[in-house]
Amino acid sequence: MEEKPRYRRILLKLSGEAFAGEQGYGIDPNFLEYISHEVKNVHELGVEVAIVIGGGNIFRGFQGKGIGIDRATADYMGMLATVINALALQSALERHVNIPTRVLSAIEMRQVSEPYIRRRAVRHLEKGRVVIFAGGTGNPFFSTDTAAALRAAEIDAEVLLKATKVGGIYDKDPEKFPDAMFIREITYLEVINRGIRVMDHTALTMCRENDIPIIVFNIREKGNLRAVVLGEEIGSVVRG
Ligand code: UDP
Repeated sequence: MEEKPRYRRILLKLSGEAFAGEQGYGIDPNFLEYISHEVKNVHELGVEVAIVIGGGNIFRGFQGKGIGIDRATADYMGMLATVINALALQSALERHVNIPTRVLSAIEMRQVSEPYIRRRAVRHLEKGRVVIFAGGTGNPFFSTDTAAALRAAEIDAEVLLKATKVGGIYDKDPEKFPDAMFIREITYLEVINRGIRVMDHTALTMCRENDIPIIVFNIREKGNLRAVVLGEEIGSVVRG
């Protein structure tokens, strides 16, 4: 029987942390190869795949303070870090699984990426290319989670898939508290009011206002991404 995807167009958020693999810093080649195959397994279903990439494995804005760099400058450094990850992922997708991929950056960097132009992004997706959104929102004081929510709304993605290293949403950090309770479904407002750490409030509000469900799932489990796209009950869902 042919497998029918639940979604036509998805926005996958990959944090920089995932890129670091076990080593905690930099770019892990094993992760690049692994994620390329995970994306291919979804792409071959005919699903349009857009990816927003984080930069935390290289630099985060809050690190600026410790080294005497003001917040806005440090945030721009963080945004540049996302471009490095984006180029690495583009290269991996083309090399390991032969999927044409375009990097669109919110901060113009003509030699290495296209500038972010919404219509162009949509056109690439329609042509079956994977689109990687780099440079976050292009503005300091925001996060790549917010960039993911923003781009998902702009390109009319049906769902935001937030890749994490745990199985979904818990009432407290499952890596610290063994008695943390798994939450299968929750509303945006509950996440905000209960202070559950899924995404920052700006990102959550953006998803809420645009009615974009968020699925939080473990990207480290092989086959999960495809299963989520096929509509299997994996991870946790945040919706209205
Ligand atoms: N950043 C920013 N504006 C954006 C997106 C990101 O200023 O729209 C900066 C911010 O300093 C952030 C860093 O880029 O700490 C890296 O992004 P993020 O921490 O969201 O990456 P992740 O946690 O997903 O690896």
